Amino acid sequence: MLSKELTKNILDELELASQAFARFQSASQLTCPEGCGKCCFNPEVSCTPYELLPLAFYLLENNLAEDFLEKAKASLGEHCLLLTVIDKDKGKGNCSQYKFRPFVCRAFGVAARSNKNNLNELSICKTLKEQSSFNLDDIHTKLTGEVPLLEVWKKRLEVIDPALNTIEKPINEALLIMLEKLLLLNSYLSF
Ligand code: SF4
Repeated sequence: MLSKELTKNILDELELASQAFARFQSASQLTCPEGCGKCCFNPEVSCTPYELLPLAFYLLENNLAEDFLEKAKASLGEHCLLLTVIDKDKGKGNCSQYKFRPFVCRAFGVAARSNKNNLNELSICKTLKEQSSFNLDDIHTKLTGEVPLLEVWKKRLEVIDPALNTIEKPINEALLIMLEKLLLLNSYLSF
């Protein structure tokens, strides 16, 4: 059931994920360059609709939900509609809803995933690899055990509510789905 309590729990968990990934980025000195928004221009960046529940609630409470519903419909297949583009050619932009960004946006850059042999494998974004003055093999061997695992953090979100285990969709589509759900519910319950 969509509720303010669920919203708070999701946002708290997302914040913890941000802190874990930021700590690792700082320890490995693989922090994203100022103003870089290259990842956000990829229209395939995906999340589950539930990760956008906090944003959808915020939009509803500020009478912006209908506007964003229309924007989401018009932006399907395009880059994230929450991105404020500064310079598309240079991949520069800012997230206009940084506080409410979904999990994937908090784990951009550096993360680890389990490979088919059940070993943690580092995944580092191309921009960070190019700018790193570090020996990436060193980071791989010394820090892999400390890098936050994508699967673990995704599971933690599911633990809040099994209903959160939904299929990931490109962000604009995920927002559209969540806003439609919330607006429909609001028409019956009025939050
Ligand atoms: S929500 Fe923000 S950080 Fe995530 S893809 Fe969109 S613009 Fe980028």
